[in-house]
Amino acid sequence: PPSADTSSASNILAAPKRIETRLYINGEFRDAVSGKTFTLVNPATDEPVAQIAEADKEDVDAAVDAAEAAYPAWRDMDGHARAACLRKLAALIRENVDAFAYLEAVSMGRPVYNYDNDCEFAAASIEYMAGAIHHLHGETSLQSDGYLNLTLRQPFGVCAAIIPWNVPMIMFAWKLGPCLAAGNTLVLKSSEKAPLTSIKMAELIHQAGFPPGVINIIGGFGPTAGAAMAKHMKVRKIAFTGSARTGKLIQEMASQSNLKNVTLELGGKSPCVVFDDADIDAAVAGSQFSIQWNSGQICIANSRIYVHEKIAEEFTQKFVKSFGSVKIGNPLDKDTRHGPQADKLQLANIKRFLEKGKAEGGELLLGGAQVTMDGTEASGDEAKGCFVHPTVFSNVPESATIVKEEIFGPVLAINTFTSEDEVLARCNDTEYGLYAAVYTKSLDRAIKFAKGMEAGTVGVNCTSPSGLFVDMPFGGFKQSGVGRECGMDSLHHWSEVKTVAIKLS
Ligand code: NAD
Repeated sequence: PPSADTSSASNILAAPKRIETRLYINGEFRDAVSGKTFTLVNPATDEPVAQIAEADKEDVDAAVDAAEAAYPAWRDMDGHARAACLRKLAALIRENVDAFAYLEAVSMGRPVYNYDNDCEFAAASIEYMAGAIHHLHGETSLQSDGYLNLTLRQPFGVCAAIIPWNVPMIMFAWKLGPCLAAGNTLVLKSSEKAPLTSIKMAELIHQAGFPPGVINIIGGFGPTAGAAMAKHMKVRKIAFTGSARTGKLIQEMASQSNLKNVTLELGGKSPCVVFDDADIDAAVAGSQFSIQWNSGQICIANSRIYVHEKIAEEFTQKFVKSFGSVKIGNPLDKDTRHGPQADKLQLANIKRFLEKGKAEGGELLLGGAQVTMDGTEASGDEAKGCFVHPTVFSNVPESATIVKEEIFGPVLAINTFTSEDEVLARCNDTEYGLYAAVYTKSLDRAIKFAKGMEAGTVGVNCTSPSGLFVDMPFGGFKQSGVGRECGMDSLHHWSEVKTVAIKLS
């Protein structure tokens, strides 16, 4: 466990008794065929946490073979029996919140505070899909003379999922739930930056009684294990969450192999518009939490705020005060609200954005630098941990890099506006389209923005992470993604539809 140098021991979440680090294939834990492992490093302390089994192509092949062998029986199992396995898994997730919170904190620095929300959302997402099994059915038609026509919803077969490191529990659940509910079997690869919660899920999957091979979980790197999944000729569908850059590679590999079905959940540069008739305190609280949650490492974070000129001064002052008082610290400390970035690579990326923000004409109102675990400015690259101070720029040119590109850190730009049409155009002037928000008391304006904003989700008088619900589709317009997760839309994406034409004599 990492050192607890800034907090009293009683406030520090204890480590689980044992941490599993191996691959889970065909219902058993095993080392990689190559015997290779990689080191997971705690981003709060720079100390090694564990050696993780590193899957390669041979392990992917073994996992796909197991999923293929398990597929017919799982596909044909009664819906009630498949739902029972999913419900049992959801219950086990709720029983293991502390273990999950600990494992995420030491892997990618997520504060343990409120981690029960992630677990609850993951469990509820899986439960929703258990309930949805009996709503996955086709249609009938008598509109063609001499025929009874109908559609069947059938599974693809062996499917693959690749998840990112920022909210692994939720990403895991959003893929596993609908994949299995639709009758597919699954090979899932966790991110090399946060593999431990996925391995813990494998333990619970085992306990929940899923037949061996139905779910196989591997750790490893993208260009090796991930690419082997995307190119695999027996994998009929792949669902990916991560960066747009990798998403495009996945789509390329899918088309160059067997044209497998692809769904993609990618990045964002989400705008939040605050009108002068808005509840300013609610807008400050919501938009600040949106960019602060998970140290800004969230695809839907509102990283661009457009505030009406009339209330800009009050809004900005309140925002900076609130964001500046967030407690930075050891993510295992239950009082910490702002942990480190996931690793040195993320830290270096964000520091580059901070320099660009300063150079490209933004006014720095808060933060702008790496800090230590106690929140004081870090001097030099030898500083321990990967902490970045919450950062606010204002009056940033719209062409600036920090307004255009996804930063994936606790950094945002607050700009002002006066014209409704002009601000809507600025919101949409991006290749991303994951989430957008508007704060106003005018119903007409709210509806105009809900219709006009080019995003998969629009929050009205709320912003992300509100607007994520187990029964509502989530996904991206434009380069933020292909397909949807959650709700019945997701279940449909995990199944093929077949028309059966029955000729009547
Ligand atoms: P990433 O693209 O670097 O990695 C995501 C996953 O892809 C990891 O498991 C990685 O090992 C794998 N991967 C990397 N290269 C690969 C390759 N060549 N072939 C196959 N697999 C490969 O993204 P990340 O840094 O883990 O996550 C951050 C990104 O994810 C951000 O852009 C964020 O916006 C996005 N994200 C989107 C959503 C959403 O629902 N839209 C949710 C969370 C994160």
